[in-house]
Amino acid sequence: MTVIIKKQTKSAGLIRTIEKIAGVDLSVCYQCQKCSGGCPAVPHVQTTPSEIVRRLQLGAGDELLDSDLIWMCLSCKTCYARCPMGINVCAVMDALRALALEKDAARPDGDMPRFNREFLGTVRRFGRSYDIGMIMAYKLGTGKLMDDAEKFPAMLKKGKMALLPPSGTDRKTVKRIFAKTAPNKRTGK
Ligand code: SF4
Ligand code: SF4
Repeated sequence: MTVIIKKQTKSAGLIRTIEKIAGVDLSVCYQCQKCSGGCPAVPHVQTTPSEIVRRLQLGAGDELLDSDLIWMCLSCKTCYARCPMGINVCAVMDALRALALEKDAARPDGDMPRFNREFLGTVRRFGRSYDIGMIMAYKLGTGKLMDDAEKFPAMLKKGKMALLPPSGTDRKTVKRIFAKTAPNKRTGK
């Protein structure tokens, strides 16, 4: 893939904003690519974690917010664990995601922000994720009720989804965590 990096001064790019939100120093990255080597999202995206860091170093601006990895990142933190310089690349993805939302940047197919919202909604309500509740809310919101519907019986049969919401969870504690972490609207954490 050809990557076009617009010429601009470093101060005009996103690097300072991202460093501030993520609490990282991207200048220490020396492109060893260990982050990309362990990232489970890499086979499914066009832009790798190390490439995102490099483009930030080179002064990339808002065009970086269209990168598919921002929405495909699983927040698994493998990149962080593998980075010899201790750069929390996962936090960089979080910061880019927050900026992409703020600036209404392009997103891949599907409504990822809605999906994330509905997922967190079920965790807040039931103390754990409740897949069927989340999927129903997502489908009602997007109007795509029949998308992937054919997979549902097989998932039920294999026990991948429970019909009833989770029970026995510590809902009070989870609600308290949400209440405590909600004020940071910028990062969603
Ligand atoms: S592992 Fe760390 S130092 Fe290596 S490319 Fe990734 S961010 Fe840079
Ligand atoms: S946190 Fe995201 S970018 Fe880092 S290894 Fe996991 S999926 Fe890849």
